[in-house]
Amino acid sequence: MIKHSRHSILTRIRDAEMLAHRTPHSVKLLAVSKQQSIEAIAALYEQGQRLFGENYLQEALEKQTALNHLDIEWHFIGHIQRNKTKPIAEHFSWVQSVSNELIAKRLNDAHPLNLPPLNICIEVNLDNEPQKSGVSLTNLPTLAHFIQSQPRLHLRGLMAIPQANTSPQLAFQKLKTAFDTLNNQGFLLDTLSMGMSADFELAIQEGSTMVRLGTALFSK
Ligand SMILES: *Cc1c(COP(=O)(O)O)cnc(C)c1O
Repeated sequence: MIKHSRHSILTRIRDAEMLAHRTPHSVKLLAVSKQQSIEAIAALYEQGQRLFGENYLQEALEKQTALNHLDIEWHFIGHIQRNKTKPIAEHFSWVQSVSNELIAKRLNDAHPLNLPPLNICIEVNLDNEPQKSGVSLTNLPTLAHFIQSQPRLHLRGLMAIPQANTSPQLAFQKLKTAFDTLNNQGFLLDTLSMGMSADFELAIQEGSTMVRLGTALFSK
C-alpha cells in the first residue's frame, strides 16, 4: 500500500538523518512519479506528499491539468529539449536537470514575470559519461556563475545520477565536494539532490538534502 510505503520511507529517511547527525527533517522527499497514474499521485498526496518530480513533459502536463486543484510543487528532472523550455519554465517551480547555458538562458527568458524565480539545480555528469547529460565538474563553476546572473532563475543546488554499476558513494562525495566548493566561493546553495530508491540512505550519509524516489515509493 502507498500509505504504508510512504510512512516507512519517511522513517528510513529520519533514521538516516539521525545516523549521519543531520538536522531532523532537513532531507526533503521528492516523489518521482514518471509513468505513475494520476490516481497514484493523488493517493500519495493524500498521505501528505507535496513534492513531485516528472521526466517527460507531455506526460507531466497532462497530470498537472488533472491535478490542478492540488497544492503540488512540481520538479522537472528529465532531459530538456531546447524547444520545450517554454512550457517547462511556465509549468514547473523547479528544474533540476539544467546542464548548459543555452537551456538556462531560454528557461530564464520564458519564465513568467508574475511568478517567483524558477528554482534551478545544475545536473552534473560526474564521470563524463558520454551518453549522459549533465555538465562536467570542470565546467560547473562557469555555468553556476551564468545561472546566478539570470534574473528569473534562482540557483538552488546540484543534482546527479551516479554511474551505473559502480559504488555510488564516491559519486556522492564528489558532488558534495563540488557543492561545498561553490558555497565557499560565495554561492548560497541549499539543495544537494542525490540519492534514489537503491541508495538514498547512503546519499543522506554523504550530505544529500533531497532524495528522489520512484520505485521505492510507488511499488505496491
Ligand atoms: C526515475 C528517476 C529517479 C527515481 O529512480 P528510482 O530508482 O525509481 O527511485 C530519480 N531521479 C531521476 C533523475 C530519475 O529519472
